[in-house]
Amino acid sequence: MSDIRQTDREYIANTYNRFDIEIESIENGYASADGKEFIDFGSGIGVNIFGAGDKEWIDAVCRQASILPHSSNLYYTRPCAELAKLLCEKTGMKKVFFGNSGAEANECAIKCARKYSYDKYGEGRKTIITLENSFHGRTLLTLSATGQEVFHRYFGPFVEGFRYVPANDIDALKAALTDDVCAFMFECVQGEGGVNALEKDYLAEAQKLCGEKDILMIVDEVQTGNGRTGTLYSYMQYDLSPDIVSTAKGLGGGLPIGACLMGEKVRDTLNAGSHGSTFGGNPICCAGALSVLSRLDEEFLGDVRERADYLWTKLSELKNIKSISGLGFMIGLEVEDSKSFISNCERMGLLVLSAKGKVRLLPPINVSRETIDKAVRILSEA
Ligand SMILES: *Cc1c(COP(=O)(O)O)cnc(C)c1O
Repeated sequence: MSDIRQTDREYIANTYNRFDIEIESIENGYASADGKEFIDFGSGIGVNIFGAGDKEWIDAVCRQASILPHSSNLYYTRPCAELAKLLCEKTGMKKVFFGNSGAEANECAIKCARKYSYDKYGEGRKTIITLENSFHGRTLLTLSATGQEVFHRYFGPFVEGFRYVPANDIDALKAALTDDVCAFMFECVQGEGGVNALEKDYLAEAQKLCGEKDILMIVDEVQTGNGRTGTLYSYMQYDLSPDIVSTAKGLGGGLPIGACLMGEKVRDTLNAGSHGSTFGGNPICCAGALSVLSRLDEEFLGDVRERADYLWTKLSELKNIKSISGLGFMIGLEVEDSKSFISNCERMGLLVLSAKGKVRLLPPINVSRETIDKAVRILSEA
């Protein structure tokens, strides 16, 4: 065992079971580790949307670091204002709050929904409906929002006011939307919960039900967002008009940033003093995000969909894969034994992820057909 593994094990909190790999560098979607080269189909858990080492992103980030790395939210800065404008122009949302992670984007979304309801209806309308098998983050509030029992241990008391319903069950949702509910929150494709895309009819019906009762629709696009599923945000493929959208992971292209996008109803819900973040909207992170977001245009996204279809077709031909789930470049594979499958991939030079007993693929969304071919060859042998 090399030194760094030992140092890590001695000094880093044991919250992750790391792969036995030390990543030294990543370029064009290929990771160098332990003297070997790996195809990176994990993208740092969906973060390196253009693959780490993307030249345009590096230039944007380095330039910003040398001009103005940080100034706090007490002052105006160009990158965060421009990023917010671009996010709103591309989505039709009205305002943006920047934090540093997916969990923080969701914290803001939940606070925003509760305050909207408080301002309009007074106390008592505080409940948020979320889905079983969802994942919304690791803070106490977002763990409370997460509809998986395994996350509701050790750290209690958790935050009150969440109710979980099974996905794709419209009757269960209807029954749960009682007078104390202010919002319905979900991922269009449940990532950590096993890469399951929700049904289109279900979400269309859910939108109608929520609209009738002024219940806000919050879409968690932390993993699905920023081109990952083939559209800028996955809700666009479901023809939804959410009131609040949270996103993070791929947004910064490798830097920590989370964004909560607020629609017409909640555009002025949060006011001075009601929320904040020291690092949120940091100029370097926003410059990185601008470099990512400005390239996610219709032409590029059309190409993403074509290459994703290409990968889906190739995967569907593999005998060792029982089922494929997900959307675009967010893919879950059901295999006989995912643990040994993943370590076989690793041995043959392909980094992949897991999700609830499945193998999960989150390649950089600019991955070439040639790299897809190489990865599929490894997947077929794994
Ligand atoms: C990863 C993830 C989060 C949490 O994001 P962090 O940046 O780790 O806080 C929240 N929601 C979804 C859907 C995620 O995939």
